[in-house]
Amino acid sequence: MSAKNKLQEILSAGLYNHSGTWEGLSYGKITPPDQTTGLPPTLPADLDEATSARILRGSSDAQVLFPQLNSYVFGPRSFRHLYLGHYQKLYVGFATDPRVRSQGSSGGVISCILIWLLQQKLIKGAVVLGFNTRRPWLTRPFIATTPSEILSAAGSKYITAPINQILPQIESFSGPLAYVGLPHQVQSIRKLQMVKDPAVKKIKYIIGPFFGNSLDFSAVTSLLKSYGINDYRQIKKLSFRHGRWPGFTRIELASGQTIQLPKFYANYLIPFHITRRSLLCTDFTNEFTDISVGDAWSPVYEDRGRGFSTVISRSGAGQRLLERMLPKNIINLKPISVAEAVSMHSHGYDFKKRGAFIRISFLRLLGRPVPDYGYTISGFPASRYLLEIIIDIMFLICSTSPARALVERINPVLIGRLFQYLRKIWKKSTQHIKREGLTVSL
Ligand SMILES: Cc1cc2nc3c(=O)[nH]c(=O)nc-3n(C[C@H](O)[C@H](O)[C@H](O)COP(=O)(O)OP(=O)(O)OC[C@H]3O[C@@H](n4cnc5c(N)ncnc54)[C@H](O)[C@@H]3O)c2cc1C
Repeated sequence: MSAKNKLQEILSAGLYNHSGTWEGLSYGKITPPDQTTGLPPTLPADLDEATSARILRGSSDAQVLFPQLNSYVFGPRSFRHLYLGHYQKLYVGFATDPRVRSQGSSGGVISCILIWLLQQKLIKGAVVLGFNTRRPWLTRPFIATTPSEILSAAGSKYITAPINQILPQIESFSGPLAYVGLPHQVQSIRKLQMVKDPAVKKIKYIIGPFFGNSLDFSAVTSLLKSYGINDYRQIKKLSFRHGRWPGFTRIELASGQTIQLPKFYANYLIPFHITRRSLLCTDFTNEFTDISVGDAWSPVYEDRGRGFSTVISRSGAGQRLLERMLPKNIINLKPISVAEAVSMHSHGYDFKKRGAFIRISFLRLLGRPVPDYGYTISGFPASRYLLEIIIDIMFLICSTSPARALVERINPVLIGRLFQYLRKIWKKSTQHIKREGLTVSL
């Protein structure tokens, strides 16, 4: 089968993951899809076979062979932890500069590392994700070359954002770069590095956020509708992690009106607007980065109101960076145990390392196309499979138009409170998430 037909097959199978790799490697031939629709791109008739083959080599949509990619990135037999991936050290920490810390989603760690790399002249720019200035409801990947540009992009954007569409700019950039991306984007970059593709030659450091899921842009329009606003073009400023940690989803409108909902309340949007492809992603902690960073979800830190991050150093380069930053008091890091790290995100591991593998096995049973990760985890208790059936039915119902329309009639604060309560139960019930008894097949 030709490479172009294989790409078409990925699209038809619904496995396209919005990494932006296809758009970037086609140098604009494949146009980035309109972010507000969530639709995949269409392949142009004149997309040649050589370009299609190159895209396929860097595509993380249908195949990412974790054991092989681990060996390439971290060395032979480096598949260290079933949930966390390969790592050197685990920490909880934050940027010591209060401005960086408060602008970050959690502890401002990613921005702080990027700024330091820039100041030390170890990089000349950092690939980050900001908002589009003319259409502020859309995201915009760009290469930040100053600390203030890096800070302007701080904060998580929970809607799909095809960052790798700027691969041509990365390729033509003069000087070394740091790159920030989500797991599917990082997987693409690593696959391209493995085949020595020139598009990624400038990338020296890869830092990435943990990744629970992405939302379709419909999450934003739906939230607006709940407040009686039917035109997203009224958005003047959009933020998913505004203010005191863990922050608020906040939308400022041209009319002067502001909509603001605590982050944990806004989680109610997830079952209604989660992208289908996120449900099949098994990488929670961004396993192929040099350093990955998540929120330090633990009552000890959540109660303090100032941001804390969970930090995983994975590569030697990542570990060395942190060790150089520490004595300069640029970053505050406290080592934590594996058990502590796992319990902070037990619900995330449950969703990705149990739920996603079960969802994949269900789809495989139904003869539906699924991504190939080069390994599978199975052997969960029957009760977990049963729970997954219930969760999947809920996702299916919630993604329908009537369900979305119904939830828009309910006050987001009320439904948000319910979701905050459910999150607590989920966290509690998965607190001692076990790896014993599971079967890993390569
Ligand atoms: C879609 C998404 C889902 C997440 N899910 C979880 C989760 O379930 N559990 C958890 O603990 N943490 C999750 N995170 C990570 C968390 O929200 C913070 O990004 C992380 O703790 C780093 O915080 P920080 O303060 O160090 O980063 P900051 O200093 O705020 O820097 C964040 C960096 O991430 C980049 N960025 C923001 N949004 C995106 C995006 N959509 N794609 C690529 N790059 C982006 C920015 O350019 C910026 O450089 C998620 C992040 C995203 C974007």
